[in-house]
Formats: sequence, structure tokens, C-alpha cells
Amino acid sequence: MVAGNWKLNGSVASVEALASEIVSELRAGCAADVVVCPVFVHLHNVRSCIASSQIKLGAQNASAQSSGAFTGEVSAGMLAECGCEYVIVGHSERRELYGESSDEVADKFVAVQSVGLCPILCVGETLEQREGGETENVVAAQLDAVIEASGVAALSRAVVAYEPVWAIGTGKTATPEEAQAVHAFIRAKIASLDSSVATSVRILYGGSVKPSNASELFSQDDIDGGLIGGASLQSADFVEICRAAE
Ligand code: PEP
Repeated sequence: MVAGNWKLNGSVASVEALASEIVSELRAGCAADVVVCPVFVHLHNVRSCIASSQIKLGAQNASAQSSGAFTGEVSAGMLAECGCEYVIVGHSERRELYGESSDEVADKFVAVQSVGLCPILCVGETLEQREGGETENVVAAQLDAVIEASGVAALSRAVVAYEPVWAIGTGKTATPEEAQAVHAFIRAKIASLDSSVATSVRILYGGSVKPSNASELFSQDDIDGGLIGGASLQSADFVEICRAAE
């Protein structure tokens, strides 16, 4: 599976062009599941462009609330109505820039699943945490918040994305071995609670994935695809990454 996180980018015209290019370049079919995640206000336009293709629609965030006095928020139910099938929750930019705690992320995860959508749960450590030997503790705590709120079985209806914060948008990619080690840790942690969930859950790697490093990352045993930021904004690069995940 490959998901493109378009972040805060694009005009209506440019996202329509990007989505249409991806559709046409993948017209022959792609064995990997492919998801694109534009900003909220572009969902409708992108939905039209990817209609009748294999590409699925995702959102970059959702409110934990379903309705009410929460000015500026967008609920998971509204995203479902817009045609979304996936929602990114707990992206490190949300955690860092908007102060989302792991408990809030867990509430969003629950809200997304409650309307039948699939959360893409992002976890990952900062450089400081990695250098302090805290990677596994940090990732475990981020997962535990969701497991406590939803139960481990909920992960079989979710995607986990391991995104080391120091690798996002920096051009520094985790080596395939570094990424695999954390993916294996995540899978083993889930397996300690439920082995069948651990086998079925998809764990994506995110952090400066490019066409030049995607194949090697995706060939690791516990890496089931990628969450792609910068490179998802170029259709040729994104499609090459999708091909690497086939
Ligand atoms: C991301 O935004 O989730 C991401 C992984 O970004 P990039 O690929 O640009 O590092």
C-alpha cells in the first residue's frame, strides 16, 4: 500500500492535474493499494478525478467530535460523505505543531473507525528521542494509547505508519535496516497481544521515501508500503513508488 500525503499544498487546478496524471499513469493497474490525501477543501475535486480508478481517497486529519460547537473542525462522518476511505491520524506535524497528545490521537482513531473509515495511525520518534535510545518506548506509548482506547483488534481495521520525525521532509531516510527494526518491533508488540492482528496489520514506512530508495525499503520483511509526503506531489515519482510496492 502507498498513501500520498499532499499536506497543505495545491490549488484546485494543480491537485486536479496531479490526481488525473496519477490516474492515467496507473491506468494499466497497480497491484498495490494506492491512496491520495489532499486538503479537506480539495477532497470533492480529487474524488471526481479518481472516480472509476483504483485510487482511494483519504483525509489528513479528522475531529474526534462528530458534531457541535467545534468551530473549524471536520468530522469523520463528513469525510465519509466526501468519499474518503482513509484518514491520517497522529501525523507528527499534528502532534508537534498542534499539540495533539496520544490520547487525542486515540480519540480521533476511534472516531474514524466509528464511521467505517480506516485510520492511518502515524507513530515515530524525534531525533532527540532516537539518540536517547527512546525509540521503542516512544512508539510503544503511541500505540498503547490507541490499543487502550480501541482494543488491539481495532488495528486489523487500520494501517500503522512508522514515520521517524527526523526523516520527514528532511531528505534523511532511515536506512532499510533501521526502519525494519522498528517495524519488527511494532509487529512483535501487536503479536504479543494478538498474533492474527499482527499478521494482517499493514505497517507503512514514511520519511523521505523517493523512487531511488522505495524498493529497498519496501523489500524489508515488515515494511508493507509507504506514506509519502514530498515525492507524492510529483506524479511520476509517486507512481514509481507505487510500482515499487507492487
Ligand atoms: C509525510 O508527510 O508523512 C512524509 C513522510 O513526508 P516526506 O515523504 O516528505 O518525508
